[in-house]
Amino acid sequence: MTDELKKLCDSVIFATYARESITFVKGSGCRLWDDKGKEYLDFVAGIAVCNLGHCPENVSQVICDQARKLVHVSNLYYTEPQVQLARELVNCSFADRVFFCNSGAEANEAALKLARKYSNEHFGSGRFHVITMKNSFHGRTLATLSATGQEKVQKGFEPLVEGFTYVPYDSIEAVERAITDKTCAVLVEPIQGEGGVRIPSEGYLKELRALCSEKNVLLIFDEVQVGMGRTGKLFAYEHEGVEPDIMTLAKALANGLPIGAMLAKEDIAEAFGPGSHATTFGGTPLVTAAALETLRTINRPEFLEHVNRVGLYLLERLSSFKEKYEFVKEIRGRGLIVGMELTCSGQPVVKKCLEYGVVINCIQDNIIRFTPPLIVEQKDIDRLTEILDRVFEELS
Ligand SMILES: *Cc1c(COP(=O)(O)O)cnc(C)c1O
Repeated sequence: MTDELKKLCDSVIFATYARESITFVKGSGCRLWDDKGKEYLDFVAGIAVCNLGHCPENVSQVICDQARKLVHVSNLYYTEPQVQLARELVNCSFADRVFFCNSGAEANEAALKLARKYSNEHFGSGRFHVITMKNSFHGRTLATLSATGQEKVQKGFEPLVEGFTYVPYDSIEAVERAITDKTCAVLVEPIQGEGGVRIPSEGYLKELRALCSEKNVLLIFDEVQVGMGRTGKLFAYEHEGVEPDIMTLAKALANGLPIGAMLAKEDIAEAFGPGSHATTFGGTPLVTAAALETLRTINRPEFLEHVNRVGLYLLERLSSFKEKYEFVKEIRGRGLIVGMELTCSGQPVVKKCLEYGVVINCIQDNIIRFTPPLIVEQKDIDRLTEILDRVFEELS
């Protein structure tokens, strides 16, 4: 089936992905099965999306029930799951209001628009510049790829959206130097995901918060990848004891159904009145019902405690490879997002692991990223490290 499907796919689907030759047909918890019945252990989770694993009973049940009741009506009307989800997000975060959309890029678009609008209303026109970080990732729409500090996503799409300045991540001095009287916001990932699982020094986000407040510049946290329990707290910013003015969420928010959200404090949200921003699909009853169940499952102390415990175990087990293999350069992570930087390409490692039934992924060519479902257990981590050890042995 895969060969035929591959051929068909390559002729009818845009060639924007270099896909692995696997056709997945079923998932349950941390496991996936391909069309030949082969079982895989999943340490990608749809790129930090299926945080509760594949097809968790409670979320699947909610999706089925809601699909039979009401799927979509438009934001011209009230629907209950959307309002309940917003209320719970507000209750468990710094924010007062939520705008729902369909993806991380859309959530960041909304955040950039809101920052411009807010600045325009409070400080007049022309103050629209946004500072973002080198090696960041914020999406693929024109504005969000312009915000992304990586040339490879921008190449060929010029002219970019105006007004972005890129500074090195984890340098408060660089932000200080870059702020001008035209700056309206700083957009930053509390931990860089796509850019290589980079965790800033302690105090960086706090200093950034202080600097932004001093200069009347909005601080936007992109928690699309690291929110929703991934780091062992519901939101990554909680580790640092700082709050942003605006935050964006997406990936794991509905455990696999498409959703994005922009959260903001009241005085900033006020800049978006009726007609200022809109979306056809954002916050449908189907998707928000799934998200509400997902949020309630993740946001329990025992659940987050589990993420911290197994996250430490994963970090510890992977760190042991550093002594054993000279090409393993560094292991870094928090909770269940862990990066393993190699001194060589990680692609052969990914391929070999797939052969042995373990799904991992490689970013920036030489960094292996582990983002398993948050329900992963110690024995799954043992299995992963056993296979990884075998693969490293074979490749070295
Ligand atoms: C994945 C990602 C995005 C883009 O999300 P899409 O849903 O693919 O548009 C934005 N920011 C971060 C940090 C991400 O990891």
